[in-house]
Amino acid sequence: MKFPRLSGIDRASPRGSLWVLLMVLVLALLGSLVWLAGRYESSRVQSRLERNAVEIVSDIRSGLTRNIQTFQALYASEPTPDAWHGPAVGLLREHREILRLEWRNEALQLLSYVETPYRTPVFERLGRDRLAADLSVTCNAARRLSGATYSASYFAPQADGMGLEVMDMCQPVVVGGRLTGYIVASYSLQDILGELVGKQLVRGITLSFTEADGTRLALQGVASRGNRIFVARELLDLPGNTLVIRMDSRLGTPALFPNVLTALVTAMSLALLAVLFLLARDMRRRLKVEHDLGEALAFRKAMEDSLLTGLRARDLQGRITYVNPAFCKMVGLQPSELLNHGFPSPYWPPELASAYQQRQETRLAGNHSPRESHESVFMRQDGTRFPVLIMEAPLVNAVGKHTGWMSAILDVSEQRRIEEISRASQDRLQASARLAMVGEMASLLSHELNQPLAAISSYATGSLNLLRGEIEAERTSAAQTAVCQPADGPVAPPLFDDLQLAMRRIAEQAERAGKVIKSVHDFVRRRERVREAVAPQSLLDAIMPLVILQSRKLEVRVVIELAQDCPPVLCDRTMVEQVLLNLSRNGMQAMQGAEETPVVGPPSDRCDRVLTLRIRLAASNMQSRWVEFAVIDRGEGISTEAAKQLFTPFFTTKEEGMGLGLSLCRTVIEQHGGFLGYEAAPPQGTIFTFTLPVAWVRKAGTTAQDVREKSCHGTD
Ligand code: ADP
Repeated sequence: MKFPRLSGIDRASPRGSLWVLLMVLVLALLGSLVWLAGRYESSRVQSRLERNAVEIVSDIRSGLTRNIQTFQALYASEPTPDAWHGPAVGLLREHREILRLEWRNEALQLLSYVETPYRTPVFERLGRDRLAADLSVTCNAARRLSGATYSASYFAPQADGMGLEVMDMCQPVVVGGRLTGYIVASYSLQDILGELVGKQLVRGITLSFTEADGTRLALQGVASRGNRIFVARELLDLPGNTLVIRMDSRLGTPALFPNVLTALVTAMSLALLAVLFLLARDMRRRLKVEHDLGEALAFRKAMEDSLLTGLRARDLQGRITYVNPAFCKMVGLQPSELLNHGFPSPYWPPELASAYQQRQETRLAGNHSPRESHESVFMRQDGTRFPVLIMEAPLVNAVGKHTGWMSAILDVSEQRRIEEISRASQDRLQASARLAMVGEMASLLSHELNQPLAAISSYATGSLNLLRGEIEAERTSAAQTAVCQPADGPVAPPLFDDLQLAMRRIAEQAERAGKVIKSVHDFVRRRERVREAVAPQSLLDAIMPLVILQSRKLEVRVVIELAQDCPPVLCDRTMVEQVLLNLSRNGMQAMQGAEETPVVGPPSDRCDRVLTLRIRLAASNMQSRWVEFAVIDRGEGISTEAAKQLFTPFFTTKEEGMGLGLSLCRTVIEQHGGFLGYEAAPPQGTIFTFTLPVAWVRKAGTTAQDVREKSCHGTD
């Protein structure tokens, strides 16, 4: 399982720009929505205003038309000017928009007139006569059209300093099909707006009459200012005059929220923005958590990878669900070869598989202690077995459910090896202790044996002296008794000679035994040894009498191969003699039990039991600083079992053996700085070799070997 590291920098940049783009788009969308909502609202207000303008125009038109009918009604009873006056006053009382009503004859001369009761006379300052020309034009037009005609509006200044915009209407009066005069009504434009327009239509708006160029003529309501005012214009087309009605909506568009819809859209947009903000914050937190999680996983993986303990998880069916690198390395298999693998596991040694299977079945059946550790043996891919310590515990998931088993596996082969070494050194320690005891005994014995040996030596010397004296006496008496006999007659019987030789040998061996005992004593006491240069030949000479004795007994032929130019060695003569003696004795004894097999070789080698003592330089190079001594036998060889503890003190395969010989030999040789080892000698037997340092290096010499063969039973 690989956990890719989450790089905050790599991902943040594209993700950040995406967020910016999203925010810009959302803001643009929201802005457009608000703007469109505003536009929609504005257009609604505008169209309502325009509808109202049309209705207002229609109201004014129908109001004016109704007035014309009312005027006509004044003439229904063909009144006289005085009779006309009363109803006319009543009419003006009802119609505030009419400022003055005049009845004029055909020549436009004033017959009667009525002023509105609501104002001071309108033409008081202006003077009605000044308008006669305009009135004439209007009435002529009315006559031509046979209907009411309106004049252009004009300003009538008032006594209070103010003024009114006034428009005259002239209507021909036809009685009995004949034009009898004109009725002239002066309208106040402002009052037309106030009286003829439905009140519900002008609520909240400013209504005005304007000229085509926009000059305001009359105004109803308060003039609105500002750039958010809705304006609608509509033409009021009257016969003889055309006016423009302008409506200004005082319900101007509010600065921010023109209506509920826009407010709603804005609120929703804000909510959306808030959600986006929360989402972004949540995303940021998620990213941080994701990053932290990635870090934690990477750390855990690094820990698992660097663990030396193998980890393995199994599910409840025994299938492997997880292994760490240490475990894979331990068994030499890939994770893919292990994962999902059931029983038998690929690292179980085949010979133990059935036992392991049984153990797993017991465990899966629940007959186990929850946490246990046991030792087992696993197999590597190359087939080698190794001991492991397995600690197993139930695998419980986050909700406390038992999902399988987790095991920690330790390769304990190194531990076992160390234990083995420790046990061996323990054995060696015990052997050394016994050796020390033996040494003590040897030391004691040597002390005790010195006395009898000295006595033997003295007795032998004494006996020799006695023998010599006896021989002398014998000779003297023989000389006296046999005066006539020749001088070279029998001097001493041969028995005396043999006795003398035997006595000499006894004295020599006693002396030698003394030396051996002294050397052993020194060796045990670890005194500083005195090394001397000893010729290999002299070493051989010292041991040969004893070797020959034993070879005769064991029927062994001894062969000596001594290189001619072999230099003297620096050694403790007695100890090295003992080493040579011990190795030769071991070799001869080994041939005792050996199967006698025919030996291929020259006739001289055909003796079955041959012990060869070979002495030569360790290397063919004459400058070699070591001399090699080899003791070669044709015995039964050394078994693998015996080889393991060959140099261990007290190891012996012989009934009366001590098992100290080889161990002492190695110690002696190593004390000389040399090396003692062995190898098999094909076709049969063993070669024990040891090396000793040369006393001095020869300048010249040859490598020819002086091979002197002793007889099968040895010679002196
Ligand atoms: P010991 O001779 O008292 O048994 P050693 O230490 O000399 O003690 O020898 C230990 C053992 O090594 C012998 O018992 C014998 O089994 C084995 N051994 C020594 N030399 C040879 C040899 N040349 N051939 C075969 N086995 C040998």
